[in-house]
Amino acid sequence: MMQSATLPANVSEIAAELTAIVGVKNRIVDPAELRTYECDGLAGVRVRPLAVVLPETTHQVAACVRIARRHGMPIVPRGAGTGLSGGALPVAGCLLVVLSRMNRILAVDLENRRIRLQPGVINLDVTRAIAPQGYYYAPDPSSQSVCSIGGNIAENSGGAHCLKYGFTVNHVVAATVVLADGDIVEIGSAAVDPLGYDLIAAVVGSEGMVGIVTEAVVRILRVPETTRTFFATFPSTDEAGACVSAIVAAGIVPAAVEMMDTLAIEAIVKATGVDWPLDVGAALLLDVDGTLAEVEHTAGAAVSIARQAGAIEVRMPKNDAERALMWKGRKSAFAAMGRISPNYYVQDGVIPRSEISTVLREIAAVTAREGLRVANVFHAGDGNLHPLVLYDARVPGEEHRAETVAGEILRICIRYGGSITGEHGVGVDKAVYMGELFGDADLETMNFVRCTFDPQRIFNPNKVFPTPRLCGDVPGSYAPHAVETSGAAGRG
Ligand SMILES: Cc1cc2nc3c(=O)[nH]c(=O)nc-3n(C[C@H](O)[C@H](O)[C@H](O)COP(=O)(O)OP(=O)(O)OC[C@H]3O[C@@H](n4cnc5c(N)ncnc54)[C@H](O)[C@@H]3O)c2cc1C
Repeated sequence: MMQSATLPANVSEIAAELTAIVGVKNRIVDPAELRTYECDGLAGVRVRPLAVVLPETTHQVAACVRIARRHGMPIVPRGAGTGLSGGALPVAGCLLVVLSRMNRILAVDLENRRIRLQPGVINLDVTRAIAPQGYYYAPDPSSQSVCSIGGNIAENSGGAHCLKYGFTVNHVVAATVVLADGDIVEIGSAAVDPLGYDLIAAVVGSEGMVGIVTEAVVRILRVPETTRTFFATFPSTDEAGACVSAIVAAGIVPAAVEMMDTLAIEAIVKATGVDWPLDVGAALLLDVDGTLAEVEHTAGAAVSIARQAGAIEVRMPKNDAERALMWKGRKSAFAAMGRISPNYYVQDGVIPRSEISTVLREIAAVTAREGLRVANVFHAGDGNLHPLVLYDARVPGEEHRAETVAGEILRICIRYGGSITGEHGVGVDKAVYMGELFGDADLETMNFVRCTFDPQRIFNPNKVFPTPRLCGDVPGSYAPHAVETSGAAGRG
């Protein structure tokens, strides 16, 4: 679906003003070149921006914001464009501010375990920069080899190891933000416990709607002394779900707990050749980390809880290569779906951990009612589900039925006290469900907070907050992101 932009008459005037700030190489107005920026990971919806800038400094960002504001242009910030909910999707007539050229690590402070960096730095490059000294950056979205820290901040991104270490919001301590009037503000502090309101919490997860983050200070952690991994199989997702709850209830916080059901295991085995059994109902992959003494104890306790919960088999990797293979299996799960279905729709919702078994049964029932199959592979420790609704786009009506199931899955998550997104954001894709999760007063309060930063709603208008859908309007359909088809990363 391509929406047409209403172009102001003064495009060349705007282009000249932007060129004066960022230079001609960092400014795009040519329609053919603009096509690169028509969409993010929600590839089914496309809007051509009026102009794109790729600034290199905070002051350039601020100056571009002032130009856009003067010309009444909406502004959409963009990092690496891997977002799956249309957060970086241009809006008609907008200035797209792409932060990918602001990609420098500015200061490493190992003593205080902080890094100051620009927003275009790729997530994995943070860890790469400090790994030789024994440190790492904890939030690990599956897209970490391609997504940017600015995008992570805007989406409050998470990953497999966020169960123990927390999401992006727990790792950002300070930020430089360009506001809608072009003012540059510093929020938070590299030091602990800054005074005043926690404005960092308002910016992280704001999906590019309160300002443009042009610098951030993030926490870094010491690489744990040791990590133990185990893989346990169960007769069904009921026992596996009960095992996750029992482990956490026993006071053990694994670094990661991932669950895969029968269909997911089948796809992974077919795609990667890992020797996982096919006649089981579910499998858990767990990482426990810490000091050697602590890990000996917690891994032993977690394994005996898994056995008590009905594990059929518990496997421990004999060496790092075997461990890496187990994680490779999990991480290839989404790409592996092609082995069992021509198409699939990835949903992202979150539920209380204790409801995993019940919710999975409801999801299975809804999917079966539509004559489809669903595979599940997800961050079980966080209750962050990623049901993959399998369908064949060549069969008339199947894609539509898959979308219906995907929507029903979100309603089930809401009914069980969860939310419509665990990590992929609301963007344009899920805005329609916001009114089902929140009441009018809640939405108004959120809007109020947003307008405190951006009274005219210049940044990312028409995102996140629901507007009445028009007849025939549907959320964007699933299309694999380029990094996914290339095998560089899998979703969730
Ligand atoms: C294969 C694949 C796997 C994925 N796996 C995960 C996963 O495991 N966990 C997860 O959480 N997500 C995952 N994602 C989604 C996506 O990678 C994350 O949301 C990521 O944080 C987006 O980063 P980005 O740099 O691509 O941001 P973009 O897509 O460019 O932008 C995302 C949002 O951030 C805003 N934004 C970007 N930069 C700034 C800035 N500097 N200041 C203000 N706003 C800004 C944009 O306006 C937009 O709203 C996956 C995506 C893909 C394609």
